Amino acid sequence: MNFQDLQTYIDKRQALNQALTLFSWDQETEAPEKSMALTAKSVGLLSGELFKTITDPKVKEILLELEKQELTISQKAIVKKWLKDIRDLEKIPAQKYQEHQERLMIAQRVWQKAKLENNYQLFMPYLKEIVVTEKEFAQYRKTNEACLYDVVLEDYEPGFHVEELDEFFNQLKEHIVPLLKEIQASPIKIDKEYNYKHYSLNKQKEFNRWLAGYVGFDFKKGVIKESEHPFTTEFHNHDVRITTHYYENNLESALFSTIHESGHAIYEMNIDDDITMTPVGSGASMGMHESQSRFYENIIGRSEEFWKPVYPRLQTFFADNLEEVSLEQFVQGINKVEASLIRTEADELTYPLHIMIRYELEKKMFAGEVDFEKLPQLWNQLYQEYLGITPQNDSEGILQDIHWAGGSFGYFPSYALGSAIAAQIYAHMQKTTAVADWVESGDFQVLKKYLQEYIHQYGAIYQTNELLEKLTGEKFNPKYYIEYLTNKFTKLYHLR
Ligand code: ZN
Repeated sequence: MNFQDLQTYIDKRQALNQALTLFSWDQETEAPEKSMALTAKSVGLLSGELFKTITDPKVKEILLELEKQELTISQKAIVKKWLKDIRDLEKIPAQKYQEHQERLMIAQRVWQKAKLENNYQLFMPYLKEIVVTEKEFAQYRKTNEACLYDVVLEDYEPGFHVEELDEFFNQLKEHIVPLLKEIQASPIKIDKEYNYKHYSLNKQKEFNRWLAGYVGFDFKKGVIKESEHPFTTEFHNHDVRITTHYYENNLESALFSTIHESGHAIYEMNIDDDITMTPVGSGASMGMHESQSRFYENIIGRSEEFWKPVYPRLQTFFADNLEEVSLEQFVQGINKVEASLIRTEADELTYPLHIMIRYELEKKMFAGEVDFEKLPQLWNQLYQEYLGITPQNDSEGILQDIHWAGGSFGYFPSYALGSAIAAQIYAHMQKTTAVADWVESGDFQVLKKYLQEYIHQYGAIYQTNELLEKLTGEKFNPKYYIEYLTNKFTKLYHLR
């Protein structure tokens, strides 16, 4: 028995996966409204086939045999990943799993209605039941002394547990919450009225298309479409697709979501040919992926160096609105700090505080320390404590995100981790490369090659901490993020 015996199964797994990905891309971008009910039947069938392929007893036999053999690093990673997938799936009774999937579909519809009608009571029984089931599944999968929440955290960020995350969020609480309070008390008020003037959608589309190409999005291997919420989806390293959402009265929104999704796409396009179309042929983890998108969006994309060569072009595009707005004013505008209620609209500084609130609540829910009746009050209290604002209703409070309705617990922390990982990589690059010059001269090919060499090419062969250690000589360390945010915003608001 050798690795070739596994190849047929890898090909089948990939083919089914790609078909499912294509259906989901289509649903979000092109499919007509009424198509879902019937298409769902095919999707269900293909999902069943994928499940059977992954858990095929013959595959398991091959994997267990290969596990004992001398393999290349990527082959070893594939075998390890697949065996983990099997172990996770085997432990949950198939019937219960199926029932839970159906419940989640319903819960997401109920959540949508609850959010629309501002009615938490409608969603509460579903949330309660989802948490019970997710905990039950985590119990099945638990292999050591870890707590149940650790089990779900591993799904999104292998190697990161409550211990590491507590340390991370405690530092944010200690340094960033007071920094925000200082900014809120500061006499400096940044004016960005210009951002909310009327911007032609067609012109925005033209500019953003150019912008994606400028930062390194390869149109021969990718396409850009529109959707309600921007996202990235990948089939393999030669087919990566992103979406943007354009608003007539908000210029920034599309600009930064285009740069953000381009960051995700560049990661996927840079993965090595040898591992694309395999189970390790995609980004290392949610957090690592988010680190790349946020590196492009925030660290690079919101810097003055970035806009020096780009802003004159933007000004020409939208002369009526931007003629009188200087580069300095624009750079201040895109970095303006303002505590807000909605996570997806948060600025760079307050964003991780939104995540901290969700992390604390998830931890409590998994520890059974939450009265679901009072969850919205708890949510509102935390917003007041960390951001200094209180939601007026649950639609702009606890009902704003779809994640819990979809059973995604342990997912939120990876968003904040991503920003912190990006800051650690950037700190290392500042010491060892001319990254600021690359950005100011628009040399994004050099940047792309650098990230490919040290991170992207490996896909999921290595975990986040292994990649960080190889590149920066150190495992994940939140201090770089705290330093980055403190320096950047202290300077912007002339605080010290
Ligand atoms: Zn993202």
